[in-house]
Amino acid sequence: DVLVVGSANADLVTVVERHPAPGETVLGSDLTVHPGGKGANQAVAAARLGARAGLLARVGDDAHGRLLAASLADAGVDTGPVLTGGAPTGVALIAVDGRGDNTIVVSPGANGRLTPADVVDARAVLASAAVVSLQLEIPSASVAAAVRTAVAAGTRVVLNPSPPAPLPPDVLAACDPLVVNEHEARALLRSPTGGAPATGSADAADPAEPADAAGRAEALRRRGPRSVVVTLGAAGALVCGPQGTEHVPAPAVEAVDATGAGDAFTGALAWRLALGEDLASAVRFAVRVGAASVTRPGAQTSYPAADALP
Ligand code: ADP
Repeated sequence: DVLVVGSANADLVTVVERHPAPGETVLGSDLTVHPGGKGANQAVAAARLGARAGLLARVGDDAHGRLLAASLADAGVDTGPVLTGGAPTGVALIAVDGRGDNTIVVSPGANGRLTPADVVDARAVLASAAVVSLQLEIPSASVAAAVRTAVAAGTRVVLNPSPPAPLPPDVLAACDPLVVNEHEARALLRSPTGGAPATGSADAADPAEPADAAGRAEALRRRGPRSVVVTLGAAGALVCGPQGTEHVPAPAVEAVDATGAGDAFTGALAWRLALGEDLASAVRFAVRVGAASVTRPGAQTSYPAADALP
């Protein structure tokens, strides 16, 4: 089984002609509400492929929380570990303008109330999973508690450090793999502790940084994780482990909307690892799932079933 430990959000989207300046009001299109959050996305991606996948998350005792629970259950995710209450369900308030540029306000809400004690209470679920998959949209102490509980139980850890933030050395060392896109790879390399930089643009050139993606993957692996996967959008992914670095191309597809592609990739990867596949084989499967997800709009709505892969 795969257990995802992470966030669940309601994404509230409206289309505007232009973004409001501070103090200004603009009118937007009819609101659409989509289930989101990286944790829920990954769990849905895995379940839709046929995985036995559960989600340890916290939602509010409110309409958004019930919507999220229903969409998770509909995808086949085990919602038994989902906790309720303590704060409103996390939301992302998203305004999209005519050029496709977004402004987003995230209110973490209940995601921020998933505590280390909640994680420890769920240790039996963590211990019975083959793979636990994490992101950084819940408190860092809860991520660390989940990783330590998984390690103690012999559960494999997959971690996508998004949004990028510092990771304790033992958490980084447990990752097998650490999964990053190119932006996250650069942000982590810029920080001496493997986390995000305190200052500077995340993508500005750094003379000390390896110039190519393979060099960055290897530099990240020297920070301690057992293995590293760098996703490269249309170019697929790099797998970097003890045997060296391998490029896995993605199938060529007609890209419509890349939202949630990384979450689809990681959910699929975690599932294949839970089935006992080696890392390179699991990545060869995951790039197909990521590619399928960009051919349709939305995040969870775009995730494929196993018989619909390129
Ligand atoms: P993120 O969504 O985190 O930015 P990427 O853009 O690297 O991550 O995409 C994750 C995965 O989704 C890629 O490794 C690839 O498998 C797939 N993917 C993304 N964009 C495309 C594309 N244009 N064509 C084919 N596959 C894609």
